[in-house]
Amino acid sequence: MNAVSPFGTAVMTQAVVAPSRRRARDILEGRVLTIINWETADSMAGHLDPTYEGLVVTGAERHKKVRKLREMFPELVILAESNSHKDHTATEDAPWLLPSDDDALIPAPNLGEILNAQRTSGASVVVLPAGFVEAGDHEALRGLVFAANELGGDDIALPLYLAAGWLRKKHKQFLIAALNESVHPVLLAFGSSTNPLDGKGRQELYREIASATHAFGWRTDLAGLAAFASGGMGTAIGTAPSTRRFTPPNASGHARRPDDATPYVLIPGHMHWMKTRAMREEIYVGAPSPTCGCLECDGAPIDRFTENDHAAAARHSHAVIAWYANTLAHTPVKERPSRWRALAQDAVVAHEMTGATIGRPWNVPTDVAAWAAS
Ligand SMILES: [Zn+2]
Repeated sequence: MNAVSPFGTAVMTQAVVAPSRRRARDILEGRVLTIINWETADSMAGHLDPTYEGLVVTGAERHKKVRKLREMFPELVILAESNSHKDHTATEDAPWLLPSDDDALIPAPNLGEILNAQRTSGASVVVLPAGFVEAGDHEALRGLVFAANELGGDDIALPLYLAAGWLRKKHKQFLIAALNESVHPVLLAFGSSTNPLDGKGRQELYREIASATHAFGWRTDLAGLAAFASGGMGTAIGTAPSTRRFTPPNASGHARRPDDATPYVLIPGHMHWMKTRAMREEIYVGAPSPTCGCLECDGAPIDRFTENDHAAAARHSHAVIAWYANTLAHTPVKERPSRWRALAQDAVVAHEMTGATIGRPWNVPTDVAAWAAS
């Protein structure tokens, strides 16, 4: 009797079909990504937990870097992000940043080729080159979602780079409806020349939108974890101010302390990013700075990072973020909003205690105050 496969001819068919890629939605669900420039991406990759973390590589050499990291870390979720939010304003007819071939001998790549370049370099999820959307531009936003919906491929994610002005009550219903139209997971980012999520009202709307749409918080800071706690899909948190938000086209970002080149560092327990020189000059003057028990610090004081230690400082801040992410991941979904509020209240108390030590009040960041009072 001939041995017949119970799968029939499907066995032969499968043998010649390329292995299917995992769906973007499955990869991004519950994931906390670190956004980092290609130049320092190597120094972060080995510190990530591939089961729930991953990297988003930005900058000119991102594809080359993704290819190299893919060989070194076969299991790691890695994405590449272009500068489409900075270089292009989306319109109804032109949602994507597509290079022009006016002056070139070789034709510029089309959208399909841009996406394939990400796939062939080894990116786990393909990120569309979406343009920036001006506040209240319904046509442009609708145009992006509809154009993306026409693209086949369930390894695609749609980033929406929205002006911070979208975070107003009058836009809420439209925004939620538009995001829920997307067949692809939405990576939700807000841009401004200052902090796009500044103020209680914007923080509340950001979480409400994440909760109503299951969007993935993109190019953000701890606000991404706040949104995840409220029902968001996951989040991508930047290692530097430039990757924790974005600056819209034709706008210039305002560095808060341009003369201070020391890195911003997340102070454990305080949910507070601060440059280390400012820590030494303003906070930990008469009193010693706290030490940190993370893998990077190993008990060393947290204000030690100099202008030459940006990569190490980013690994420390990542460890603090990972602690919060793990805390949320191990909290039942329904209890996550109250858990996040309790963590923010702990940070408020930490500021009060530090204030008592240094002999003057120390203001809590406005976002932390908003979470603590939510
Ligand atoms: Zn540390």
